[in-house]
Amino acid sequence: MTGYSGGMTALSEATSIQDTATPPGRTSIVRAIDVPEWPDLPELVLELLQDIESERDDEPAGVRPWDLAHLPEEAREPVGQWLHDVARWLNRSYAWQAETVIPPCWPQHPHIALDLAVIAFGRLLSYQSATTTHPARWHDDLQAFYHRTSLALGTGASDCRAGRHETRPAAVDIATYEHLTEQGRATRSTR
Ligand SMILES: [Zn+2]
Repeated sequence: MTGYSGGMTALSEATSIQDTATPPGRTSIVRAIDVPEWPDLPELVLELLQDIESERDDEPAGVRPWDLAHLPEEAREPVGQWLHDVARWLNRSYAWQAETVIPPCWPQHPHIALDLAVIAFGRLLSYQSATTTHPARWHDDLQAFYHRTSLALGTGASDCRAGRHETRPAAVDIATYEHLTEQGRATRSTR
């Protein structure tokens, strides 16, 4: 078994040791910590990570599952499902105020999806570290992720979080860009 799925086993063992050491009639402090279990990786994603681990320097880089723009077709569904589980985990673990809730419409927000993938895999990799340095940095990254998400959602944030996803505010500007670019291309091709 690789380190990607071994962490919870160690925690379960630690919990059972703590439980047996707690005198009868007293509540174990470990039981009182309400941290949900980190979602398991789908088999295909685990294989992609193992491929990366066994890569040699002289090999072309394989699939990076955190790069959603380069996911092979067969990886899209398992990666998406796992990111959905991670979004739920983040909401249950870290979202105390509404501002830090990842909205349920995140798959319709490419800015959140691309960012969430890096945060999700970033946690997975940083917690493989033997020290707390990388997990501490990941917490900084998480704060920056919340900041970027809030900034990008803007005034529509509470609607999205309430399940009322609206059209992208920048849709007209993006369409204008596309239109002008196409126009420029057409003009160049007729010259
Ligand atoms: Zn939305």
